[in-house]
Amino acid sequence: MTASPLSIEFVTSAVDAKVLPASPAEVAFVGRSNVGKSSLINALANRKQLARVSNTPGRTQLINMFALPNGSTLVDLPGYGYAAVPGRVKQGWQKMIEGYLLDREELANVFVLVDGEIGPTKLDVQMLEWLRANGIPHTVVATKHDKVKSAKRQTRKKDLAAGCMLEPGDIVWVSASKGVGIDTLRSLVLGHLN
Ligand code: GDP
Repeated sequence: MTASPLSIEFVTSAVDAKVLPASPAEVAFVGRSNVGKSSLINALANRKQLARVSNTPGRTQLINMFALPNGSTLVDLPGYGYAAVPGRVKQGWQKMIEGYLLDREELANVFVLVDGEIGPTKLDVQMLEWLRANGIPHTVVATKHDKVKSAKRQTRKKDLAAGCMLEPGDIVWVSASKGVGIDTLRSLVLGHLN
């Protein structure tokens, strides 16, 4: 059975999470720039241009908020770890994102995107350790499943999970390009928002 696309509409963009409107329930998506976050949000909604897909990592430094018909919300946090961003700006983002993740009462779950082709980076691991240390519920989503050769998938799945200090079964593998895992992820998102 195919789950229907998430019916989400763009609500607002903000530079600071503090100004986001209230929501009955919210999930957030985080990940380093270029991990495939915009492509994934578009795939969940089955839309081409809802979230912007960019070949210039770090261009989208805004928080984007989307809403489902029941009013619950999905928040797309700015990609972290763009090397060309000056240190002070980077720290400012980090503070803002941490503040959001710690203080947003409606936040039901954080989907942490890890590039399936390259595995967790140091920043991904730091993010996961920080979420764990702060008791913030989260799920690891490995992107670009189609970029991992089928002969290597088994090993990659084990290694990526180990790199995240998790079991292979804990990770949701997706491919926005090929539609792999999108239904599973939609169901998980809805489970947190309904
Ligand atoms: P973001 O910066 O995290 O929002 O990443 P984007 O969605 O803009 O994607 C970054 C790059 O990865 C783009 O060139 C996308 O076309 C590519 N990409 C995203 N998802 C996939 C996927 O599932 N498979 C493949 N092969 N490429 C992908």
